[in-house]
Amino acid sequence: MVQTMPKLLTGVYPGTFDPVTNGHLDIIKRGARIVDRLVIAVAVNAGKEPLLSLEERLRLLQKEIAQMTSAEHIEVVPLDTLLIEFCRNQRASVILRGLRAVSDFDYEFQMAGMNARLDPQIETIFLMASERQQFISSRFVKEIARLGGDIRGFVPASVVESLSQQFGR
Ligand code: ADP
Repeated sequence: MVQTMPKLLTGVYPGTFDPVTNGHLDIIKRGARIVDRLVIAVAVNAGKEPLLSLEERLRLLQKEIAQMTSAEHIEVVPLDTLLIEFCRNQRASVILRGLRAVSDFDYEFQMAGMNARLDPQIETIFLMASERQQFISSRFVKEIARLGGDIRGFVPASVVESLSQQFGR
């Protein structure tokens, strides 16, 4: 029998998380069961002009992750370089992404393809969105909150509070 040293698998879950939703948290919990160490890479800008500051997006993620049983295997880190570069620095061999409807597919397919060309050693793994969370998006959460709607079914209480402050309620 061949004896090998156990290899610790690090995964990176990149996103804007503006704000973190129950959909993201579901992917984080499930992802943490697959890899030994999960690094949540919070994109500083992503060309999306985020509503929440980087500090607030990091704070909300950290608060929610602290309550997870797998918290000690999860880190939250700002992402301000090329993703592949970030993965190499973190010694990660897996990029984790969530897939909702077909509409996500095109963008995710292209991104995975480009990243594979940049570094074929780093594999992108997709987790299908859970049935209950698949319609949740940060974009609609912000839109509903801006118009004073109830977002409690989509995001944790800390995010509800943060967005109501943001929109001056
Ligand atoms: P990005 O700006 O990189 O798309 P997001 O924060 O919007 O960042 O999303 C990060 C990742 O999480 C993406 O792979 C996205 O498809 C996934 N995701 C977003 N919402 C959900 C959800 N409700 N269920 C599962 N995956 C999701």
